[in-house]
Amino acid sequence: MRLIFLGPPGAGKGTQSKLLTKRFGARHISTGDILRDHRVAGTDLGRLAEGFMRHGELVPDELILKMIEGELERSPRGFIMDGFPRTVAQAEAFDALMDSRGVPLDAVVLFDVDRDTLVTRLTSRWTNPKTGKSYNAITNPPPGPGMRDADGTELIQREDDKAETVSKRLDVYREQTEPLVAYYLKRGKLVKVDGLAPVEDVTRQIVSLLSPELQAS
Ligand code: AMP
Repeated sequence: MRLIFLGPPGAGKGTQSKLLTKRFGARHISTGDILRDHRVAGTDLGRLAEGFMRHGELVPDELILKMIEGELERSPRGFIMDGFPRTVAQAEAFDALMDSRGVPLDAVVLFDVDRDTLVTRLTSRWTNPKTGKSYNAITNPPPGPGMRDADGTELIQREDDKAETVSKRLDVYREQTEPLVAYYLKRGKLVKVDGLAPVEDVTRQIVSLLSPELQAS
Protein backbone atom coordinates (compact mmCIF):
# COMPACT_ATOMS: atom_id res chain seq x y z
CA MET A 1 0.00 0.00 0.00
CA ARG A 2 1.44 3.36 -1.04
CA LEU A 3 -0.98 6.22 -0.33
CA ILE A 4 -0.83 9.95 0.20
CA PHE A 5 -3.47 11.56 2.41
CA LEU A 6 -4.00 15.12 1.24
CA GLY A 7 -6.10 17.73 3.00
CA PRO A 8 -5.94 20.68 5.34
CA PRO A 9 -4.87 20.41 8.98
CA GLY A 10 -7.72 18.99 11.07
CA ALA A 11 -9.32 17.07 8.18
CA GLY A 12 -8.82 13.67 9.87
CA LYS A 13 -5.74 12.45 7.98
CA GLY A 14 -3.92 11.40 11.16
CA THR A 15 -6.87 9.49 12.60
CA GLN A 16 -7.48 7.58 9.35
CA SER A 17 -3.74 6.94 8.81
CA LYS A 18 -3.47 5.30 12.23
CA LEU A 19 -6.54 3.10 11.65
CA LEU A 20 -5.58 2.01 8.13
CA THR A 21 -1.86 1.41 8.68
CA LYS A 22 -2.77 -0.80 11.62
CA ARG A 23 -5.20 -2.76 9.44
CA PHE A 24 -2.93 -3.10 6.37
CA GLY A 25 0.47 -3.30 8.08
CA ALA A 26 1.88 -0.26 6.27
CA ARG A 27 3.91 2.54 7.89
CA HIS A 28 2.26 5.78 9.01
CA ILE A 29 4.59 8.59 7.95
CA SER A 30 3.45 11.84 9.55
CA THR A 31 6.01 14.55 8.82
CA GLY A 32 4.46 16.74 11.54
CA ASP A 33 4.84 13.97 14.19
CA ILE A 34 8.43 13.26 13.10
CA LEU A 35 9.32 16.95 13.32
CA ARG A 36 7.70 17.22 16.77
CA ASP A 37 9.78 14.20 17.91
CA HIS A 38 12.91 15.94 16.65
CA ARG A 39 12.00 19.06 18.60
CA VAL A 40 11.48 17.09 21.81
CA ALA A 41 14.81 15.27 21.26
CA GLY A 42 16.53 18.61 20.56
CA THR A 43 18.17 17.48 17.30
CA ASP A 44 19.58 19.91 14.70
CA LEU A 45 16.52 19.26 12.51
CA GLY A 46 14.23 19.93 15.48
CA ARG A 47 15.94 23.24 16.20
CA LEU A 48 15.81 24.27 12.53
CA ALA A 49 12.10 23.39 12.25
CA GLU A 50 10.97 25.00 15.50
CA GLY A 51 10.45 28.62 14.37
CA PHE A 52 8.57 27.62 11.22
CA MET A 53 6.27 25.28 13.13
CA ARG A 54 5.54 27.74 15.91
CA HIS A 55 4.36 30.29 13.34
CA GLY A 56 2.33 27.81 11.30
CA GLU A 57 4.71 28.09 8.33
CA LEU A 58 6.18 25.29 6.26
CA VAL A 59 9.60 23.84 7.04
CA PRO A 60 11.93 24.19 3.98
CA ASP A 61 11.51 21.50 1.30
CA GLU A 62 15.10 20.24 1.41
CA LEU A 63 14.88 19.38 5.12
CA ILE A 64 11.60 17.54 4.60
CA LEU A 65 12.82 15.62 1.55
CA LYS A 66 15.91 14.34 3.33
CA MET A 67 13.67 13.10 6.14
CA ILE A 68 11.29 11.37 3.71
CA GLU A 69 14.08 9.43 1.98
CA GLY A 70 15.07 7.91 5.31
CA GLU A 71 11.46 7.06 6.12
CA LEU A 72 10.94 5.26 2.79
CA GLU A 73 13.93 3.04 3.52
CA ARG A 74 12.11 1.92 6.65
CA SER A 75 8.80 1.18 4.90
CA PRO A 76 9.14 -2.16 3.10
CA ARG A 77 5.39 -2.90 3.46
CA GLY A 78 4.30 0.45 2.07
CA PHE A 79 3.15 3.66 3.69
CA ILE A 80 0.51 6.28 4.18
CA MET A 81 1.93 9.80 3.89
CA ASP A 82 0.16 12.14 6.30
CA GLY A 83 1.13 15.80 5.84
CA PHE A 84 3.52 15.19 2.94
CA PRO A 85 3.86 16.45 0.22
CA ARG A 86 2.76 19.98 1.06
CA THR A 87 4.22 21.88 -1.91
CA VAL A 88 4.43 21.19 -5.64
CA ALA A 89 8.24 21.04 -5.30
CA GLN A 90 7.87 18.29 -2.66
CA ALA A 91 5.43 16.37 -4.90
CA GLU A 92 7.79 16.56 -7.89
CA ALA A 93 10.75 15.41 -5.83
CA PHE A 94 8.67 12.58 -4.37
CA ASP A 95 7.56 11.44 -7.85
CA ALA A 96 11.22 11.32 -8.90
CA LEU A 97 12.08 9.33 -5.77
CA MET A 98 9.31 6.80 -6.39
CA ASP A 99 10.30 6.51 -10.07
CA SER A 100 13.90 5.83 -9.10
CA ARG A 101 12.71 3.07 -6.79
CA GLY A 102 10.38 1.71 -9.50
CA VAL A 103 7.33 1.74 -7.23
CA PRO A 104 4.20 3.65 -8.29
CA LEU A 105 1.93 5.48 -5.90
CA ASP A 106 -1.47 3.74 -5.53
CA ALA A 107 -3.59 6.84 -4.91
CA VAL A 108 -3.85 10.27 -3.33
CA VAL A 109 -6.87 10.56 -1.02
CA LEU A 110 -8.22 14.09 -0.67
CA PHE A 111 -10.12 14.84 2.57
CA ASP A 112 -12.86 17.36 1.88
CA VAL A 113 -13.78 19.52 4.93
CA ASP A 114 -14.94 23.16 5.07
CA ARG A 115 -12.88 25.85 6.79
CA ASP A 116 -15.30 26.59 9.66
CA THR A 117 -15.31 22.92 10.69
CA LEU A 118 -11.51 22.82 10.54
CA VAL A 119 -11.15 25.86 12.79
CA THR A 120 -13.58 24.36 15.34
CA ARG A 121 -11.87 20.95 15.21
CA LEU A 122 -8.33 22.30 15.57
CA THR A 123 -9.01 24.80 18.33
CA SER A 124 -10.84 22.16 20.39
CA ARG A 125 -8.19 19.42 19.87
CA TRP A 126 -6.37 18.21 22.98
CA THR A 127 -3.41 15.86 22.70
CA ASN A 128 -1.73 13.38 25.04
CA PRO A 129 1.94 14.49 24.94
CA LYS A 130 3.12 10.93 25.76
CA THR A 131 1.13 8.95 23.19
CA GLY A 132 0.11 11.56 20.58
CA LYS A 133 -3.53 10.43 20.93
CA SER A 134 -5.88 13.34 20.47
CA TYR A 135 -9.38 14.15 21.67
CA ASN A 136 -11.90 16.78 20.70
CA ALA A 137 -13.33 18.78 23.59
CA ILE A 138 -16.71 18.94 21.80
CA THR A 139 -17.19 15.77 19.74
CA ASN A 140 -14.86 13.27 21.46
CA PRO A 141 -14.09 14.49 24.99
CA PRO A 142 -11.23 12.86 26.92
CA PRO A 143 -12.09 10.19 29.53
CA GLY A 144 -11.06 12.68 32.20
CA PRO A 145 -11.58 13.84 34.85
CA GLY A 146 -10.91 17.30 33.40
CA MET A 147 -8.60 17.48 30.40
CA ARG A 148 -6.89 14.21 31.27
CA ASP A 149 -6.41 10.90 29.48
CA ALA A 150 -7.54 7.55 30.95
CA ASP A 151 -4.06 7.03 32.50
CA GLY A 152 -4.26 10.44 34.21
CA THR A 153 -1.87 12.19 31.77
CA GLU A 154 -2.70 15.87 31.50
CA LEU A 155 -3.64 16.68 27.90
CA ILE A 156 -2.13 19.68 26.18
CA GLN A 157 -3.23 21.93 23.37
CA ARG A 158 -0.60 21.88 20.60
CA GLU A 159 0.81 25.40 20.40
CA ASP A 160 -0.02 25.51 16.67
CA ASP A 161 -3.66 24.51 17.43
CA LYS A 162 -4.24 27.86 19.14
CA ALA A 163 -6.62 30.18 17.27
CA GLU A 164 -4.01 32.66 15.94
CA THR A 165 -1.85 29.96 14.38
CA VAL A 166 -4.73 27.83 13.07
CA SER A 167 -5.84 30.59 10.73
CA LYS A 168 -2.28 30.98 9.41
CA ARG A 169 -1.94 27.20 8.84
CA LEU A 170 -5.17 27.14 6.85
CA ASP A 171 -3.96 30.06 4.69
CA VAL A 172 -0.65 28.27 4.10
CA TYR A 173 -2.59 25.15 3.07
CA ARG A 174 -4.70 27.10 0.58
CA GLU A 175 -1.72 28.88 -0.95
CA GLN A 176 0.96 26.19 -0.98
CA THR A 177 -0.69 22.78 -0.67
CA GLU A 178 -4.05 23.09 -2.45
CA PRO A 179 -2.32 23.29 -5.89
CA LEU A 180 -1.51 19.60 -5.33
CA VAL A 181 -5.17 18.76 -5.96
CA ALA A 182 -4.77 19.81 -9.61
CA TYR A 183 -1.31 18.21 -9.73
CA TYR A 184 -2.56 14.74 -8.78
CA LEU A 185 -5.85 15.10 -10.66
CA LYS A 186 -3.82 15.64 -13.85
CA ARG A 187 -1.86 12.47 -13.11
CA GLY A 188 -5.04 10.42 -12.56
CA LYS A 189 -4.16 9.66 -8.91
CA LEU A 190 -6.73 11.70 -6.99
CA VAL A 191 -9.73 10.26 -5.14
CA LYS A 192 -11.92 12.23 -2.72
CA VAL A 193 -13.63 11.39 0.58
CA ASP A 194 -16.14 13.35 2.65
CA GLY A 195 -14.11 14.29 5.72
CA LEU A 196 -17.23 15.47 7.56
CA ALA A 197 -18.62 11.92 7.84
CA PRO A 198 -18.15 9.94 11.09
CA VAL A 199 -14.72 8.31 11.49
CA GLU A 200 -15.89 4.75 10.60
CA ASP A 201 -17.66 6.01 7.47
CA VAL A 202 -14.54 7.81 6.27
CA THR A 203 -12.54 4.59 6.79
CA ARG A 204 -15.12 2.67 4.76
CA GLN A 205 -15.06 5.28 2.00
CA ILE A 206 -11.26 5.06 1.73
CA VAL A 207 -11.18 1.25 1.68
CA SER A 208 -13.90 1.16 -0.99
CA LEU A 209 -11.77 3.40 -3.21
CA LEU A 210 -8.76 1.07 -3.05
CA SER A 211 -8.17 -1.52 -5.75
CA PRO A 212 -9.49 -5.05 -4.98
CA GLU A 213 -5.87 -6.30 -4.63
CA LEU A 214 -5.12 -3.63 -2.02
CA GLN A 215 -8.38 -4.27 -0.18
CA ALA A 216 -7.42 -7.93 0.11
CA SER A 217 -3.78 -7.27 1.15
P1 AMP B 1 1.05 18.79 10.93
O1 AMP B 1 1.12 18.05 12.21
O2 AMP B 1 1.06 17.90 9.72
O3 AMP B 1 -0.07 19.81 10.88
O4 AMP B 1 2.43 19.64 10.81
C1 AMP B 1 2.79 20.58 11.80
C2 AMP B 1 3.83 21.54 11.21
O5 AMP B 1 4.99 20.81 10.81
C3 AMP B 1 3.39 22.29 9.97
O6 AMP B 1 2.62 23.43 10.27
C4 AMP B 1 4.74 22.64 9.34
O7 AMP B 1 5.38 23.68 10.04
C5 AMP B 1 5.55 21.38 9.61
N1 AMP B 1 5.42 20.39 8.51
C6 AMP B 1 4.86 19.14 8.58
N2 AMP B 1 4.92 18.51 7.40
C7 AMP B 1 5.54 19.37 6.54
C8 AMP B 1 5.87 19.30 5.16
N3 AMP B 1 5.59 18.23 4.40
N4 AMP B 1 6.50 20.38 4.61
C9 AMP B 1 6.79 21.47 5.35
N5 AMP B 1 6.49 21.61 6.64
C10 AMP B 1 5.86 20.57 7.25
